[in-house]
Amino acid sequence: MHELSIVMSIVETAEEKVKEHHASSVESIDLVIGDLAGVDSQALDFAWDSAVKNTVLQKAIRNVIQVPARAKCLECDCEFGIKEIYDSCPLCGEPLLLIIQGKELQIKSMILN
Ligand SMILES: [Zn+2]
Repeated sequence: MHELSIVMSIVETAEEKVKEHHASSVESIDLVIGDLAGVDSQALDFAWDSAVKNTVLQKAIRNVIQVPARAKCLECDCEFGIKEIYDSCPLCGEPLLLIIQGKELQIKSMILN
């Protein structure tokens, strides 16, 4: 499962940070997830519960900041929200877009104990 490997890499990063700062655990963690990041939130919840057991993230409060997808048309330069990577420009119909937002998948911040 794709989401499980995502959570496992988050756990790995958290373990490193806790060690680096001589803390004991993570109190809360903010994640930034773009609409085009390919993360299913239910699958993420499920993976989270099993992957954080006995780790520094076990009791952490998780906040997910969902980022809507936006693209810029390479033909007419307009910017607009998109639902799918393969959407085309609503103004000129050009299919060549630059995704400017929505593929994020990262830890925004963590509060350590
Ligand atoms: Zn356009």
